[in-house]
Amino acid sequence: MLLVFEANMKKKIWIGLMVAIWVVLLVVILGILGGGTAWKKLNSRASKEVVCPADSLPNMMAGDSLQPTSSDSTTGKTSLCSDGSEGFVMLSEVAPEILQEIRYYSSYNFVGTRIEGYEEPVALLTKEAAAALKAVSDEVNQKGYRLKIYDAYRPMSAVQHFRRWAADLNDTLMKADFYPNLPKSMIFHKGYLSSRSGHARGSTVDLTLVDMATGQDVDMGGTFDLLDPQSNSLRRDGITEQQFQNRMILRNAMVRHGFRPVSSEWWHFTLRNEPYPDTYFNFPVKSL
Ligand SMILES: [Zn+2]
Repeated sequence: MLLVFEANMKKKIWIGLMVAIWVVLLVVILGILGGGTAWKKLNSRASKEVVCPADSLPNMMAGDSLQPTSSDSTTGKTSLCSDGSEGFVMLSEVAPEILQEIRYYSSYNFVGTRIEGYEEPVALLTKEAAAALKAVSDEVNQKGYRLKIYDAYRPMSAVQHFRRWAADLNDTLMKADFYPNLPKSMIFHKGYLSSRSGHARGSTVDLTLVDMATGQDVDMGGTFDLLDPQSNSLRRDGITEQQFQNRMILRNAMVRHGFRPVSSEWWHFTLRNEPYPDTYFNFPVKSL
């Protein structure tokens, strides 16, 4: 009887041990499977989203380091982060009659290559600046002119490109056309380039007039981005009375519709009540 009891006990202990081992194995297997799924979920989230750096919202301030913004270049997926472009429009959608010759997308500019951040030859502006420019366009159209845009919103990455170019004093590829009388070392010193371009705030525009009758650029006594005293908007020396009057047609129309001129460049204007006076954006120039 005792022997039978002991045999039963051994059998029960043995079965108990086997069950315990299976339970432990099951827990371990489930743990590995569960953990793997969670890991996969984590990875899949990481591949779809770009982490928003806190200081990139809505974008960046002058002097900050450049941060990734709107898209993940490796996956091509749009990030969930705001890049600050919500307040901007394509000028062509507000004023399709305005001509556009976006020089920093082309290689015909003072650097001689396409400028960083210009992914498409389009003019982007804040909604407020675009609306004001539409009013300027309507006014000059009545007088037989069309506006032609050379540059509008300019990302901070482009400004950084200009700085790198300016530091390389040996690169004077475009000197004859754009700074014939200025040593390259003086470009920043003279204020022609700045590490804080107003264009990055999205309400500044470079433009000229085109004569509707001839289709030719109006003679302003110097070309866009001629880094020279001759580009001073109120200059009389070295330019004809007609050239001066042409500058005034553009300047007066811009001022009437809320833009502020700058003395050193007849083509450069900033909206007085710009909506982002302290924000320097860095999303690329491309269709919105
Ligand atoms: Zn400008």
